[in-house]
Amino acid sequence: MGDLKLDLDLDALGSDMFRFVEELFPICRSITGEGIRTTLDAIAKRVPLQLHEVPSGTAVLDWEIPREWNIRDAYIKNRAGRRVVDFREHNLHVVGYSSPVSRRMPLSQLKRHLFSLPDQPDLIPYRTSHYSEGWGFSMQHEKLTQLPEDEYEVCIDSTLEPGNLTYGECYLQGDSKKEILISCHCCHPSIANDNLSGIALATQLAEHLQSLELRYSYRFLFIPGTIGSITWLARNEDVIGLVEHGLVVTCVGDPGHPTYKRSRRSDAPIDRAVEHILRHSGQEYEVRDFSPYGYDERQYCSPGFNLAVGSLMRTPNGEYPEYHTSADNLDFIKPECLADSFQLYLHVLDVLENDRAYLNLNPKGEPQLGRRGLYPSVGAQGTSSTLMARLWLLNLSDGEHSLLDIAERAGLPFVAVREAAQALLDGGLLAPVSGSPVP
Ligand code: ZN
Repeated sequence: MGDLKLDLDLDALGSDMFRFVEELFPICRSITGEGIRTTLDAIAKRVPLQLHEVPSGTAVLDWEIPREWNIRDAYIKNRAGRRVVDFREHNLHVVGYSSPVSRRMPLSQLKRHLFSLPDQPDLIPYRTSHYSEGWGFSMQHEKLTQLPEDEYEVCIDSTLEPGNLTYGECYLQGDSKKEILISCHCCHPSIANDNLSGIALATQLAEHLQSLELRYSYRFLFIPGTIGSITWLARNEDVIGLVEHGLVVTCVGDPGHPTYKRSRRSDAPIDRAVEHILRHSGQEYEVRDFSPYGYDERQYCSPGFNLAVGSLMRTPNGEYPEYHTSADNLDFIKPECLADSFQLYLHVLDVLENDRAYLNLNPKGEPQLGRRGLYPSVGAQGTSSTLMARLWLLNLSDGEHSLLDIAERAGLPFVAVREAAQALLDGGLLAPVSGSPVP
């Protein structure tokens, strides 16, 4: 049976992931450019990562790789030469993909390029113009409304030129060529929960799995949102058929409760596995159906692919006030929430790795467990669930029911049923159904 080493040091894991988020936080990322390369280089120091560069103008499905964007500096200076908005203070001040600009203009003209949040006047909004040329600055609404009439010097020292789209792929070879896909987006600048939490969790998961014996092969994708998954899908038609299960990792560091968004298929094994783990997690959680909005699951679950890819998050995109603002920062995410999310992911993978059907070798009447040392001693802790797991397994192991089927029917956690299966296998009462596929 696959051992995913579920016994975790959650404190150490949480602080390690948090430190990685801290390290990546200052980088000005976008869907292309040096920011995403620097981020991928940092991931590559922890896990084996294959980097891909796809030239601007390349056709990918119905899209085209955009020009590459890079930025060195940006500011708005008043007549006195003081920077009233400064990219060096916060990279969210510049609208992502802003074309270069250097000119003077009065406040009335400048205001057409300024964005703020009147309802959250002290926060800087995250804005982009990836697919329509333009430029702009984001700023706190309270600062915007206090800008006096003046002639302002506006500078965005950026380049928008033919280059590449960059993404990273970490492949871990398991016994089977069949794959589990773990995908996260890496295109947001200094935003902690939406993006960096997912990068940290996916990296940590790859680190954890890389030394273990695995039944499935694993493919971790570190890609710019939307255009990255479209690019990967366009270039990997031959691999797509091997993807059995998948998860999009995002928003996994906030203190909200876990939320699972089902795959478009809604009852795929990944959907059953995640829902089972959440049901037995002992915490509040929510499961919702697929919708064609959100993150890259939109692309993986488009009808031409319809992959079994769901998304396990905490608070979903757009549903927390800090979302896409400067308040989605290092104070908003918590090491213990990152660690809790990691643990949920690992338990889901434990189900996928170990779910298979067995055959009761003594199906006529109950086998006598006591004689085989398999009847739990009276009064020992967990006696009844240990016994019930063994009895359910013996009863339903007719080759038709997998461990997850049995765990669900018995109302027991998967781990308990898996451990019971191991005990019965060791006791010679069960045999694996040869080639038992994941149901
Ligand atoms: Zn986002």
